[in-house]
Amino acid sequence: MIDTSLMPDENGYFGEYGGQIIPPELIQIMNEINDAYDEIRQTSAFQDELADLNEHYVGRPSPIYYAKKLSKQVGGARIFFKREDLNHTGAHKINHCLGEALLAKHMGKTKVLAETGAGQHGVALATACALMDIECEIHMGEIDIEKEHPNVTKMKILGCKLVPVTRGTKTLKDAVDSAFEEYLKDPVNYFYAIGSVVGPHPFPRMVRDFQSIVGKEARAQFLEEQGKLPDIVMACVGGGSNAIGLFTEFLQDESVEMIGVEPAGKGLDTPDNAATLTLGSKGALHGFKCYNLQDDNGEPLPVYSIASGLDYPGVGPQHCYLKDLGRVRYESVDDKACLDAFMILSRTEGIIPALESAHAVAYAMDIAKDMSADQTILINLSGRGDKDADFVAERLSL
Ligand SMILES: *Cc1c(COP(=O)(O)O)cnc(C)c1O
Repeated sequence: MIDTSLMPDENGYFGEYGGQIIPPELIQIMNEINDAYDEIRQTSAFQDELADLNEHYVGRPSPIYYAKKLSKQVGGARIFFKREDLNHTGAHKINHCLGEALLAKHMGKTKVLAETGAGQHGVALATACALMDIECEIHMGEIDIEKEHPNVTKMKILGCKLVPVTRGTKTLKDAVDSAFEEYLKDPVNYFYAIGSVVGPHPFPRMVRDFQSIVGKEARAQFLEEQGKLPDIVMACVGGGSNAIGLFTEFLQDESVEMIGVEPAGKGLDTPDNAATLTLGSKGALHGFKCYNLQDDNGEPLPVYSIASGLDYPGVGPQHCYLKDLGRVRYESVDDKACLDAFMILSRTEGIIPALESAHAVAYAMDIAKDMSADQTILINLSGRGDKDADFVAERLSL
């Protein structure tokens, strides 16, 4: 078995994916970030500070919960959740935002920049920057600003500068361009905090490392509580950070099957999906090589999912490599199955999941019924559904 924990190589490649497909000036800046990260992460000052924040600020370790009633209703395998929804700010994103903000601060950067779609990354980053006293600027499309009111309000309260993006589609894609332009004005003093395991090297590696605490905890907790490893570990995949965070610690366990669940949106046979690993082709996007959903000219397609956090035309390079190696299987779940799982989990267990996480729950429910009661599935419940509650209630006329 290939030891993928040693990835990426020194140029940031996972197999043929990843790298730094960016102008030479920026390659130098990215390499400086990589070197600073390598230096800092070995120091006990950095490790102690992050460990302390994880415990006392985020509330780690997050528990593993056996969803007894859900498992019984589905019939078959026993279903467990790694409760990242219980973290401060309500999702796994705080894990890498704290790491990135801490690194930016240690590097003496004066401003942290990012784009946000639904506002989840924006809120987590604004939270980390408020805590660390570092200036934060978030670019967000005007249409998203109107749609995502609670997150917009939170970012304002947290004191970050919110820049409305009025050009083009007025959504995520143009917010990326806008934030990146601002970053290029002073990349020496600014830090672009990428929100998933995507972008140029070293971000896919760094964000993975910060998220891998999820799998480290989960593997030890599961072994201790169940006396064996789970048969399957599973997570939803947008850019891929919560999935790789759970998977990394299990990669060398040959007995553990891994499944990443992508959004099939309104169906794989319609243009309204974001099932990148299922339907995409190889190409370059946002500074790295990956599978992506693109048109004949290599331009990213306007993707769609009911869960805005999964709505991305590319995917992390390590996932592309794991797919080609056959180590992880990537499947997809459509909006309807996602909504069903959202309601079933809410009403059987009293846990309202994020619509993103509900994709993984839906796929687990689908396969659990054909498994036996001594088999187990561990799902990364990446976030809570507060942000989605009004939308779902309206959609289902509750
Ligand atoms: C952003 C988000 C995701 C998708 O991002 P990944 O990088 O694929 O993990 C999944 N779940 C929640 C709750 C999110 O906020």
